Amino acid sequence: MSKPDEPWIKSVRNSKELVIRSEAESGVWTGVLQECVPIFNRIALKAMSYKIAGAEDKANVVLKIAGSGKDDPEISGGTHGKTRRGKQVSGRGGVGIIEVEIFLPAQPSGVSKNMILMIVLHELGHAAGLEEHTSDGVMMTVPNDQQGKISATKTSKKMPPFFFTNKTVNRLRTIWKTAK
Ligand SMILES: [Zn+2]
Repeated sequence: MSKPDEPWIKSVRNSKELVIRSEAESGVWTGVLQECVPIFNRIALKAMSYKIAGAEDKANVVLKIAGSGKDDPEISGGTHGKTRRGKQVSGRGGVGIIEVEIFLPAQPSGVSKNMILMIVLHELGHAAGLEEHTSDGVMMTVPNDQQGKISATKTSKKMPPFFFTNKTVNRLRTIWKTAK
């Protein structure tokens, strides 16, 4: 059975924007957000967008390296991250996601630079509310990395350039539909 996509609370949804901060500025993850945010915003086709938090901004989404906090999830293997959503189930502002932490593997091994970007783009998708995986594009289930060329199967379209399937963009549009 498939799990439904999960929208953010109304005020965030209506802003069509998530403010994100990186607390993962080390090793291969250094600067990854500056690279990924423009790519994500381009391929999300204005369904919503990410903005990198300035010094004064409160972030909705935080990027972290797993293992630094005692409650961090464990990540096995080096080719995926983990997204943990904080949800509001009632109250003012309605129901929905109120905050997200993205955890990245501390030591991704044997992973190309493009795979590093892919991991972050994929988790940005989950943080935006996408739940289920797809057969192709950034939200694919199992990405195969062949010397930096990433594809779902041998014959499917290789990334980069990164892409969301049309269906994924439509799901994003539905998740980020203006709320009354
Ligand atoms: Zn995933």
